[in-house]
Amino acid sequence: MNDVLEVAGVHVDPRHWIGGERVGSAETFTNLSPIDGAVLGEISRGGAAEVDAAVAAARTAFPGWARLGPKGRGEILHRIADLVEARVEEFAQLETRDNGSLLRSHRRGVMPRVALNIRFFADYAINDLSHPDFETRGHTNVVSWDPAGVAGIITPWNAPLMLATWRIGPALAAGDTVVLKPPEWAPLTASLFADITAEAGLPPGVFNVVQGLGIEAGAALASHPGVARLSFTGSVPTAKAVARAAAENLTPLSFELGGKSPTIVMDDADLGLAAELAAEQYDNAGQVCLAGTRLLVHESIAAEFAERLAEKVRDIRQGDPRDEATDLGPQIHPAHLERIEGFVERARRDGAQVAFGGERIEPVGGGFYFAPTLITGAAAGSEILTQEVFGPVLTMQTFNSEDEAIALANNTEFGLAATLVCGDRARAERISEHLVAGTIWVNCFFVRDLRAPFGGSRKSGIGREGGVWSFDFYADVKNTVFSPNGWR
Ligand code: NAD
Repeated sequence: MNDVLEVAGVHVDPRHWIGGERVGSAETFTNLSPIDGAVLGEISRGGAAEVDAAVAAARTAFPGWARLGPKGRGEILHRIADLVEARVEEFAQLETRDNGSLLRSHRRGVMPRVALNIRFFADYAINDLSHPDFETRGHTNVVSWDPAGVAGIITPWNAPLMLATWRIGPALAAGDTVVLKPPEWAPLTASLFADITAEAGLPPGVFNVVQGLGIEAGAALASHPGVARLSFTGSVPTAKAVARAAAENLTPLSFELGGKSPTIVMDDADLGLAAELAAEQYDNAGQVCLAGTRLLVHESIAAEFAERLAEKVRDIRQGDPRDEATDLGPQIHPAHLERIEGFVERARRDGAQVAFGGERIEPVGGGFYFAPTLITGAAAGSEILTQEVFGPVLTMQTFNSEDEAIALANNTEFGLAATLVCGDRARAERISEHLVAGTIWVNCFFVRDLRAPFGGSRKSGIGREGGVWSFDFYADVKNTVFSPNGWR
């Protein structure tokens, strides 16, 4: 129980990381690999006691970390980023075995981004947070960005370490200390990251990890009165439980939630590009919050577009995500696979057509694979058009005018992102102005810059992250007003 594991050639400790030490729990949970269903090990299953200990350690470490200032903190944070970069291969191998995402994207995109998440916010705190001085009737206002306390961070499994460090980076740079609750379906890279923080010289207690189930460790963190900021990335139903738990302490919340984003293809679109961008919505086996899973296509080009998309999808190679040639890996867990299957079955039963896919794939060696799927002819308002599937399932609807495209795009309770494929800039600007979404991509997809605001409108989230928006949340912004009357 709780012994150090060897996974994909990497040694990783499945226990909590509290106050700079490994701490086990009597209870554990079993961690599976989505690639083949293999048991990767038993992971410590924390609850209220472990969360209490981690928050206490983070509170003890807070004054010292806060006093270091942005430069002092930045030196250590850069060392963490250096170590992540030096061990990209280990992180990539471990994450792929644990969550089934492609090894090649972990190597080339995701893990380098993990290092950038730390580096970027360390530098931002040093160089880019403005401290404007301005006068009010001769008085001087001085704005400062103060450390806030302990940040509780709860993350999902679809890009575990990338999503965690996107919050850990700005929280630590702002001078907060952190308690992370990683996802129970992909808990391992958080543990390796804890080792790295120690190696980089991060003082004990500044960063803590409590492993466990959402309803136990997650719920305990969400309701903990010692937490000054609570960042949650996950689904809407869980967000409601988290908000209720945090309400008791009025803990400030940052929510990055789900989506049902549109990919809109206008009649003047480059259809080759449109098909390419639509096929990208299957990336990470559809387990992407930002995925534009509702294809909205102008009636006049719908048939040709559908044909081109089907052609692209035929080229998608599905299989073991460790293989360089693979484009599409498995779903995270058998329960998730069943959930996706349920969505497709109910859509069929309700009269929609499955244009392609719609079923499990049985690959060599087991694992939890679902074929890239396109659903057409779904009734307006039906579940498949309104609920987030979080799998490789797209729907297609048609429209006849810009107004109809906008109305369909906005006909959702979500508002995370929108992709627009369009041949004319003025038209793209006109349409974008009316779309409700935190991010709009025009003739592109998934281009992200850490300086840009990121977040969801409506039920896709609360608040924005990136650049100064992250610090708006993790820092306590303060205004000090100096009298003009000198020092008497
Ligand atoms: P989830 O809501 O089931 O779980 C997310 C995290 O919350 C996990 O760590 C889980 O253990 C924890 N949790 C579960 N119940 C809890 C409770 N009662 N109290 C506190 N914590 C609890 O989501 P998931 O299935 O892990 O992830 C998929 C969801 O995440 C999708 O809806 C997806 O769109 C969303 N997501 C959003 C973004 C974004 O940036 N907007 C990014 C990635 C994923």
